[in-house]
Amino acid sequence: MKKIILDRLLARARDVRERAYAPYSNYRVGAAVLTPLGKIYTGCNVENASYGLTVCAERNAIFKAISEGEREFVAVAVVTANGGSPCGACRQVLYEFMDPAAPVVLSDDDLSQVQSMTVGELLPNGFTPRKLREGQGSVRKRETGKRVVSGKR
Ligand SMILES: [Zn+2]
Repeated sequence: MKKIILDRLLARARDVRERAYAPYSNYRVGAAVLTPLGKIYTGCNVENASYGLTVCAERNAIFKAISEGEREFVAVAVVTANGGSPCGACRQVLYEFMDPAAPVVLSDDDLSQVQSMTVGELLPNGFTPRKLREGQGSVRKRETGKRVVSGKR
């Protein structure tokens, strides 16, 4: 991926970070995802007094894009005060919509410490829609060891 595109993605992540609603953690995060056609969607973290309702910047960006009709992303940039990396939940969500080889760029606020990796490096051996499909439709009964097909009760 061209550096100029990744730089633009980083700049958008840095800019949207300013809009973070993070009165509890004081840890502001901005994220930007790139579609195959070059469109950029951004997201910031949005916290809540009921902490568990907080949504991370990465998921916010992805969900915004999905709700606009996107289904695939080719790169993601995340900017925090100190270049922190995505949480486990966000890694799994990125994995759902991105190729494991897609670039992930992390940076601090002044874009001086930029780190590059891939989605696969961020989440090795991630759970995929394919794995889910492969595992559906049958369960092994512990008691009998017999295989039963769900839906045929
Ligand atoms: Zn997260």
